[in-house]
Amino acid sequence: MTSNRQREETQSRLTWLTKILRLKDLKITAFSFQQRDTELHLWVKPFKNGCRCPVCERRCPIVREAQEARSWEDVAILGRKTLFWYAPKEIVCPTHGLVQEAIPWAAPYARITYRLEFRLCALCQIMTQKAAAAILKMAPSTLSNCLHRVITRVRTGHKIRGLVTLGADEIAYCKGRKYATIIYDLDRSHVVWVGWGLGRETIDRFFNESLSEHQRLKSKWASCDMSRAYTGAIQHHCPNATLVIDRFHVVKALNEALDAVRKDEWRGLDKRGRQAIKGLRWMLGMQARNRSKKQSRFLNALRTSNRRIHRAWVLKDEFERIWHFTYPGAARQFLKRWMTAALRSRLPSLKTFVTTVRNHFDNILSFIERPLTNAVGEGINRLLKIVKNRASGFRGLEPFADLIFLTIGDLDIPAHIPSDLRTL
Ligand SMILES: [Zn+2]
Repeated sequence: MTSNRQREETQSRLTWLTKILRLKDLKITAFSFQQRDTELHLWVKPFKNGCRCPVCERRCPIVREAQEARSWEDVAILGRKTLFWYAPKEIVCPTHGLVQEAIPWAAPYARITYRLEFRLCALCQIMTQKAAAAILKMAPSTLSNCLHRVITRVRTGHKIRGLVTLGADEIAYCKGRKYATIIYDLDRSHVVWVGWGLGRETIDRFFNESLSEHQRLKSKWASCDMSRAYTGAIQHHCPNATLVIDRFHVVKALNEALDAVRKDEWRGLDKRGRQAIKGLRWMLGMQARNRSKKQSRFLNALRTSNRRIHRAWVLKDEFERIWHFTYPGAARQFLKRWMTAALRSRLPSLKTFVTTVRNHFDNILSFIERPLTNAVGEGINRLLKIVKNRASGFRGLEPFADLIFLTIGDLDIPAHIPSDLRTL
C-alpha cells in the first residue's frame, strides 16, 4: 500500500517537473541534483514509441536495445545547468543502414538540445559570445563550438538563390592582421559568402564553387573596389553584369591623394610654414557640406599661404559633384573636364589618381545609372562593424564567418530549429 502511494507521488512529481520545464515529446523517468546542487540531471525517454531514422523519419527495427547513456545540455534553469540523459537505440534503416534513432529534443550528433541551440543563436545575434556564455553558464569555447555546429548543420547543402546584384569587398579580421573576401546580395542586403584570403584566387573560388554557370550569367549588377582581382574576376565570370565601382573606394583613393599632397608639403616646410597647415589632415578629408564656416575660411586662406594644398583641395571638392549627376552624358563630360584640370595641377599624387579614374572610367560612371554601393544604405556596413567588434577576440575566420552568417547571412539560422522548440 505504501509503496503504491510512494510510486504515485514520484509520478506526480515527475509530471509536475515535466510541465514546469515545458518539455514535450519526452518523459522524465528520474532526476537528481549533482555537483553540489549546481546541476540538474534528468533521465528522459522519448514519448513516441517506435524508433525512427533521423534522415528519412521512417520507423525502423531496433538492432541494439540500450547502449551507453549520453547526455545533452539544455537551457540552464535559474542558473543551474540542466542535462538530459538517455541511451539512444541503434536501428537499421533500409535506406540509411545502421543509425542511431532520431531524438525529438536534439539534432543528430548534437551535444545540446534544440532549445539551447535556439537560445544560443538568439543571444549571439545581439551580444558578444562571452556575454552569451555567461548567461547560458557555458564555457565560451564550448559555446563557440556549439554555435559552429548549428550554423554548419543549417548551411550544409544551402544554395545561393536569385543573386542579381552582387557586391564584393574585403574585410579585415583578427584585429586587422588577416583578410577575408565577402560577397553580398545587394538587393536583399545580406551576405552570401565569406572566404579567407584576398585577390583573384579567392573570388574565383566563390564563382566556381557557389554559383552555377546559369546563375553567373543571370547577375546583372556588381559592385566592388578598384582592384584588378575583383573587377577582372567579375568581368570574367559574369559577362552580363554592369560593374559599378564602389563610390567609397573612389573617395578614399582621392582623399589619400590629397593627403599625399599635404605630406609632401609638410616635408618641405620650415617650422612656421608647418604651423600654418597644422591640423589640416582630417579637415581636408571632410565633405564640403559637413564643414563649419570657420573651417571653410581656414581652407580658403590656404589660397595665399599654401597654393598647392589649396589647389588639390578645390579639385577634391569639385570631384564630389560627380555623384549627384542624373544624366550619364553630363557626368561623362564633367569627369573628363575634371581629369584635365587635375592633370594641369601638376601634383604627382593627383596624376596617379587620374590614371586610376581613367582605368575605371566607365565603371565609375555606371554609378549615375545605378547608385550602387556595398554599404546599401549603411545597413550592411553598420551590422558588419558590430559583428567585427564582437568578434575581435577570435583567432580564425570560422567563428567570425559564423557570426556574419548568423547576423547578416542569407539564411535565417534560428528559423531552422523545430518551431515548437524555439522558446526563449
Ligand atoms: Zn532512413
